[in-house]
Amino acid sequence: ENPMPQTHAVIVSSPGVGHLVRDLELGNHLVVDHNLHVTFFVVVESHSSAGESELVESARTRKLLNLIELPPVDISSKVEPNARKFTRLTAIMREICPTLRSSISAMKLSPTALFVDIFGTPVLDVADEFHMLKYVFVSSAWPLALMLYAPVLDKEVDGEYVVRKEQLRLPGCMSVRPDDVVDPLLDRTKLEYRVFLQVGLEMRQSDGVLVNSWEDLDTTTLKAMREQEGYGSVPVYAVGPLIRPVKPSGSKSELLDWLDDQPVESVVYISFGSAGVLSAQQITELAWGLELSQQRFIWVLRPPSKDKGSNALDYLPDGFLERTQNLGRVVTQWAPQSEILGHISIGGFLSHCGWNSSLESILNGVPMIAWPLYAEQKMNATMLAEELGVAVRPKIAPTKGIIGREEIEMMVRKVMEGQDGKAMRARVKELKNSGGKALTEGGSSFNALSHLAKQRER
Ligand code: UDP
Repeated sequence: ENPMPQTHAVIVSSPGVGHLVRDLELGNHLVVDHNLHVTFFVVVESHSSAGESELVESARTRKLLNLIELPPVDISSKVEPNARKFTRLTAIMREICPTLRSSISAMKLSPTALFVDIFGTPVLDVADEFHMLKYVFVSSAWPLALMLYAPVLDKEVDGEYVVRKEQLRLPGCMSVRPDDVVDPLLDRTKLEYRVFLQVGLEMRQSDGVLVNSWEDLDTTTLKAMREQEGYGSVPVYAVGPLIRPVKPSGSKSELLDWLDDQPVESVVYISFGSAGVLSAQQITELAWGLELSQQRFIWVLRPPSKDKGSNALDYLPDGFLERTQNLGRVVTQWAPQSEILGHISIGGFLSHCGWNSSLESILNGVPMIAWPLYAEQKMNATMLAEELGVAVRPKIAPTKGIIGREEIEMMVRKVMEGQDGKAMRARVKELKNSGGKALTEGGSSFNALSHLAKQRER
């Protein structure tokens, strides 16, 4: 029936749960909806984290992708020990090129396209060698616009971005407040800044940038990147929302059993992603804020960064667990987040605004309390709170000071029981529907992926 051999695509996923989650989903969609054969390379930093292992394990069980786990590489002679994320991860991805090259040349069915994520642009050279199409898959659209436009800002703006009074102007898009600037742009004298610019330039050289959003969510930003000067004229495809599907319920955990017993939309879920941590003082304030709000909760708690090995529960106020035992649950392990957010009892999400978490919240119709910490999360938070109207946000940035218990209490109440909460919930449910439509057959993201799946040569 099928005269052409099946199209073979290679996806290379950089270290970190956030990338792995969406790269796997991209692969799954290319296989299931668009009939591609996909070889998927998993790259880890020094060893796989609990989250990474769990994702790889469930991908193995699904058997959709030809999964290859690469052994960790040593970059200690290549980067400073305290190198930041872009510097470190792009160095790792550069190191895997030889292995990737020999693996691709040994493949029986020659692959025609290579997909990498934001840290994988050094691997795009390998695509050139094999005359493959090369694509970069990133998270949210507005930070992508900043990244593509950064080489222009670098030329036109003097001094540090973060100390300016004026916003950074992006043609056709929302301007970026100095306070919201992404981490790699915080200090223009650092290597990390130059690596970030370089990645932006490499993206502009690709055959397309895929973004985990959809036309109706980011209409203005997508249009700007496609039509305005300064973004490098690279094709931009909105292919999302690609999020992890909720596992069919098999054996349930104590936590999910507890959720079953709570009223509809009555529990606030608190999590700061795979890497977010709070200070000891902030943990105390958050605990008191939750207790004062008297709202039900599930809190994924990690110890403060400087005491990584310690017991997170030691940082809770005395007697907190006893006093709140009918109100909530504290989790110190890796939490089954997609199952939690997909549960009918969840009514709010206090989140660090990582893009996967934000999409998981939107796609489950859950309004948010935006608590951005690192990477591009401050831009995501502004987008969620001010553009989309699905989140409340503290008055000062959590990275600038301690958010007090009264403000936390007020935000939790607002989302869970106030009029504002009702409006946000209605709005987020609209977005949920439009995101769902984008990915079903005939939807804008489905069509974009279908177009990409049909491309075989440059
Ligand atoms: N996650 C999870 N359990 C946890 C913490 C995180 O399942 O205890 C998942 C979460 O559902 C999301 C991903 O890990 O899919 C984190 O991605 P995100 O972009 O939100 O944040 P990052 O960790 O990249 O900052």
